[in-house]
Amino acid sequence: MKQYLRQLPPVHELQKDRRFEAIRQAYDLTNEQLTRFTQHAVNDLREELLSGRLNLDGTNKVVSELVFESAAKRAGEWKEDRLARVINGTGTVLHTNLGRSRLSLEAAQHVTRVARNYSNLEYHTAQGKRGSRHDIIEDLLKESTGAEAAMVVNNNAAAVFLILSALAKNREVIVSRGQLVEIGGSFRVSSIMEESGAKLVEVGTTNKTHLVDFEHAISKETAMIMKVHTSNFMIIGFTETVETEALVDLKNKHEGLLFYEDLGSGALYDFKKHGIGDEPLVKEVLESGVDIVSFSGDKLLGGPQAGIIVGRKAIIDQLKKHQLARVLRVDKMTLAALEETLKTYVAGGNAILEIPTIRDITRSLGSIKQQAEDFIQDVQSRTTAYKIDLKESTSQIGGGTMPGVELPTYVAAITHLRFSSQELSQNLRGCSPAIVTRIQDNQVYIDFRTIEEQEMQLLTDSFAEIAQTK
Ligand SMILES: *Cc1c(COP(=O)(O)O)cnc(C)c1O
Repeated sequence: MKQYLRQLPPVHELQKDRRFEAIRQAYDLTNEQLTRFTQHAVNDLREELLSGRLNLDGTNKVVSELVFESAAKRAGEWKEDRLARVINGTGTVLHTNLGRSRLSLEAAQHVTRVARNYSNLEYHTAQGKRGSRHDIIEDLLKESTGAEAAMVVNNNAAAVFLILSALAKNREVIVSRGQLVEIGGSFRVSSIMEESGAKLVEVGTTNKTHLVDFEHAISKETAMIMKVHTSNFMIIGFTETVETEALVDLKNKHEGLLFYEDLGSGALYDFKKHGIGDEPLVKEVLESGVDIVSFSGDKLLGGPQAGIIVGRKAIIDQLKKHQLARVLRVDKMTLAALEETLKTYVAGGNAILEIPTIRDITRSLGSIKQQAEDFIQDVQSRTTAYKIDLKESTSQIGGGTMPGVELPTYVAAITHLRFSSQELSQNLRGCSPAIVTRIQDNQVYIDFRTIEEQEMQLLTDSFAEIAQTK
């Protein structure tokens, strides 16, 4: 081992090696950057030799060669995107781990325009005076939801927190036990409530809550009744919940009592008319008399991550003035993406299909099948390494929305002649871009609902490439 440690050259000598210059040029690095990578490589190698994890006895490896290999690997990894695009072959449209909604082209272009230039974010150009970023999308939100007023914060969790902090701190909020949800493991209504300083008053049981439960819980300490959309689970069987209308009537009997609904997904597009789920429209919820509603920007809406709050003007004004509104405020890029997405809703008609989330959820079975068939034909004309069947299956909407809704779809069910399904899916994740799939019945499933036509070439190329690996 000692002799190898002695062979480890000092970095200033490695810098003079022609391999140093070759790597520097190949990866387009500065001298300083490659020097750092080389130093790291030397340190790692020394450590591996000292710990005995690396034993070069009996091999004819040259230490300097190992250093350059390692430095080149670092350089390659450095150049790769950390936040990288992936191909979503799972068919789950709102995949929280894969970034939820994709933006429409128009929305992405508007983000670029606003990000690359100065903007009127908080400036009235006509008056030459300071403006408010809240004004940018308020009218679009009013138009698309029928609300009196609206505002936007960082995400829906932030919206819930702001609403409870600003309107119910040190006072009571009544929630049905059946709605005390946890979403994605990191958002619990009860925890957010505790953080906000509002006091949770649970009523009813997990499966049944009656109007009288609410009636009995109301006291002079009560600030609001909160309804939480049970967006990521369903309680089925012997259940009962209190209708929104009945709760509205109840709260109207009590001066100053508010009714807030955390809608979660918040649809502005009527999926019901396609026979998909029974998600209420934000407009419908407001019309039923709820004072204030919050929902996510990147779930069924199909826009950027954001928390949208709509409802009565007096309440929204109060929220806008709260210190937390400043803490939770959104960036100009979010506003740009949201503006363009909302314009598409206001325009209506077929333009709505420019929003990928809506397009993917409402895709026809025929077009998915066609795409799956094209894929199978293309891959099989290029390699014999796979057995691929066209299968009927179902896709989920995901993102904690519309649980229990299964959209009929077609998948390519793939087995590699040598690799196990686990190995194949791992190889697919190693592609650039990574291809994420699901494994079912010991086959790798690719669901074409979430794959764009322009991703097809990348997909088949990756399969052809994997077929050649040993
Ligand atoms: C998704 C969801 C949230 C959290 O929304 P984010 O935008 O992810 O912060 C809160 N409440 C409900 C009911 C949800 O479905």
